[in-house]
Amino acid sequence: MKIAVLPGDGIGPEIVGQTLRVLDALRADGLPIEIEQAPLGGAAYDQYGQPYPEATQTLVRAADAVLLGAVGGPQYDQLDRPLRPERGLLAIRKDLGLFANLRPAVLYPELADASTLKPEVVSGLNIMIVRELTGDIYFGQPRGISVNELGEREAYNTMRYSESEVRRIAHVAFAIAMKRNRRLCSVDKANVLETTEFWKEIMIDVARDYPEVTLSHMYVDNAAMQLVRNPKQFDVMVTGNIFGDILSDEASMLTGSIGMLPSASLDENNKGLYEPSHGSAPDIAGKDLANPLATILSAAMMMRYTFNREDAATRIENAVKRVLAEGYRTGDIAQAGSRRVSCSGMGDAVVAAL
Ligand code: NAD
Repeated sequence: MKIAVLPGDGIGPEIVGQTLRVLDALRADGLPIEIEQAPLGGAAYDQYGQPYPEATQTLVRAADAVLLGAVGGPQYDQLDRPLRPERGLLAIRKDLGLFANLRPAVLYPELADASTLKPEVVSGLNIMIVRELTGDIYFGQPRGISVNELGEREAYNTMRYSESEVRRIAHVAFAIAMKRNRRLCSVDKANVLETTEFWKEIMIDVARDYPEVTLSHMYVDNAAMQLVRNPKQFDVMVTGNIFGDILSDEASMLTGSIGMLPSASLDENNKGLYEPSHGSAPDIAGKDLANPLATILSAAMMMRYTFNREDAATRIENAVKRVLAEGYRTGDIAQAGSRRVSCSGMGDAVVAAL
């Protein structure tokens, strides 16, 4: 298990530091974990003058999986665009061919009050959104702003998917559904857009390889509505880049606690980049206040999806459930009567629960 660790900027080193303690505990119990660190984003700019330097490229290409904290900070906002920390993130995703983005939205019963929805609607929520990450209208050509034959300015983007792009994300989504409750909802706008009619047709075809998974289809406008009306009806959702961008943010906010949500981006061989869904939180960086659980849960996803170690993944997730049940809370999820802890205090609690 060769893991490249990129702490990044802001709270990145703090939340990754606590996650490394969790990985150390698993290694002590026999998992063959090897860790090497490199900078990404602003930290890499400070050291090498660019956000995704060669040393980092070499390390992540050779690794089986990558654990990332977060990148970015106000001190880098004035840099030329190609030098900004966020460019490092785009570059590493492209370099590693990460086309499948997995964003779970899980609401632990103890945190039901953090959601803006009624506790009975969201308590126990557990959805996985699988978003295609490298195609669709975000990358389709032609695109641009020009002047038409009538002399008026116009703008256009192209929604485009090749069959192989849809097939590979379909296989990822069905395989994930097989590891969960075997229900997959494909989200499209097949009543209006040919691209997504094509998407739906291919989903139905790939479903024949997964007879144990129940495939359903939903228009994206209805899916947006159902996510707030009755989100617990969903197990796994799969959709294209633009719909996934919007629905995954909507789903994550159902839980109300951004410091709790992990994510994964996978390539064709399940090599993955694992990171929390939140950013580098410069407002609380260096104060030992950040919630490390999203990053710790990203390590659990790594065990499940890259290393196929369901046992290790469940062990980490159960440790997190236990510390929440015992009342440990960082500031972002604190409630009256809870046991308020620092970032490192939360790490202590998780390691003890492991
Ligand atoms: P953010 O997610 O960093 O912070 C939003 C709010 O949530 C802040 O109040 C922050 O304190 C809080 N928060 C976030 N994570 C937390 C945690 N683990 N524990 C406790 N509180 C937490 O988003 P932002 O403020 O819009 O962006 C800050 C920087 O992060 C920017 O430079 C942005 O470009 C970058 N960013 C990076 C990523 C990434 O690395 N994947 C993603 C989003 C934003």
